[in-house]
Amino acid sequence: MAVLDQLNSQQAIDLENKYGAHNYHPLPVVLSRGEGVHVWDVEGKQYYDFLSAYSAVNQGHCHPKIVGAMTSQAQTLTLTSRAFYNDMLGKYEKFACEFFGFDKLLPMNTGAEAVETALKLCRKWAYEVKGIDENEADIIVCENNFHGRTTTIISFSNDPVAREHFGPYTKGFIKIPYDDVSALEEVLKSNPNVAGFMVEPIQGEAGVYVPGENYLAEAKAICEKYNVLFIADEVQTGIARTGRLLATCGNCNCADKNCSESPEVKPDILILGKALSGGAYPVSAVLANNHIMNVIKPGNHGSTFGGNPVAAAVAIAALEVIRDENLAENAYKLGQLFRSEMNKYIESSSIVNLVRGKGLLNAIVINDDEDSDTAWNICLALRDNGLLAKPTHGNIIRFAPPLVMTEEQLLDCVGIITKTLKQFED
Ligand SMILES: *Cc1c(COP(=O)(O)O)cnc(C)c1O
Repeated sequence: MAVLDQLNSQQAIDLENKYGAHNYHPLPVVLSRGEGVHVWDVEGKQYYDFLSAYSAVNQGHCHPKIVGAMTSQAQTLTLTSRAFYNDMLGKYEKFACEFFGFDKLLPMNTGAEAVETALKLCRKWAYEVKGIDENEADIIVCENNFHGRTTTIISFSNDPVAREHFGPYTKGFIKIPYDDVSALEEVLKSNPNVAGFMVEPIQGEAGVYVPGENYLAEAKAICEKYNVLFIADEVQTGIARTGRLLATCGNCNCADKNCSESPEVKPDILILGKALSGGAYPVSAVLANNHIMNVIKPGNHGSTFGGNPVAAAVAIAALEVIRDENLAENAYKLGQLFRSEMNKYIESSSIVNLVRGKGLLNAIVINDDEDSDTAWNICLALRDNGLLAKPTHGNIIRFAPPLVMTEEQLLDCVGIITKTLKQFED
């Protein structure tokens, strides 16, 4: 078979199975094109994308402005490494710092790398600024977290599949229950060596768990009281996904950024990835103010591709799209509509227990065991009906379409979802 021959779906799947490591279990659909909220398989069938590459494609597939910035930069200069300056990185850093309200940005490529960067930054701050004894710093994380797949990150995961047979594990992490500020304070009261608390504003991979309204604000206040850095992993929740630019902008479902019920919570360290590039290119970042970021000196950290000119050009364009197309507002509005439409269906459903989420990061919980394959079978039926989603667990399906969706398209999707669910009602 010549490399450029057009494959059919089965051939493409067979090739991945034979020559690719089996580190994923994809839904059987082979995509070859995307535009906006839609993707097409190699046979030409059209689907709504209701996963958005785990919220990387918030701006929609192949957004012309992002693709334009990428191709034009790719024809000019792609990589210098940080051995030399390039004329795009500084522009991007200034743009992103002003966009998110921080002094400095450290550019990386993937979400896991940005999480690693934040952990290193937090530890160095602990030794050089907070004054914790060498090698004694602890970082608090939450049960059922998902922060990526590196050796250190899986060390504090409690997913046995992600952890087993990958030890020995990295020390220095303390796990507490999610959405539990007393558990946080309990540890901080008795342990002076805590450097940071790292948390997802909504636990996406765990099944879209939205914490109580004041959780983030209270956790931040406790961190301040004990001089501990509040580290927000917004790789999945950030960049307009939850109806605001960042999910740490309050945790009630209201659109007002300055809402007094649930004010903005400013992390000490902000971790971004995924939609920072609109899914066009791997771009991640860690943002912090000078009193934290200045502990990083030449040679402490880096990446050959981190901060390359293509990434910089793509990220500026991706953030401009978020701002210019009011995608946070659209996610907020469509999220309300989605949950209210789904709740109407759920009232008389025996197969779906509930819908939860914020903005356009939502999930439904299927009325079956965690280890059942009902959610998987529903996703296969959704695929047949023209909509692509994936279970996060045996009985939870995440729904996270691109934020460029229109109200009409969303209602069309609700129609597909409810029609499909009806096939599973008894
Ligand atoms: C996806 C994700 C990561 C890891 O990002 P990669 O680019 O896959 O390494 C980290 N944290 C959260 C919350 C994520 O959703």
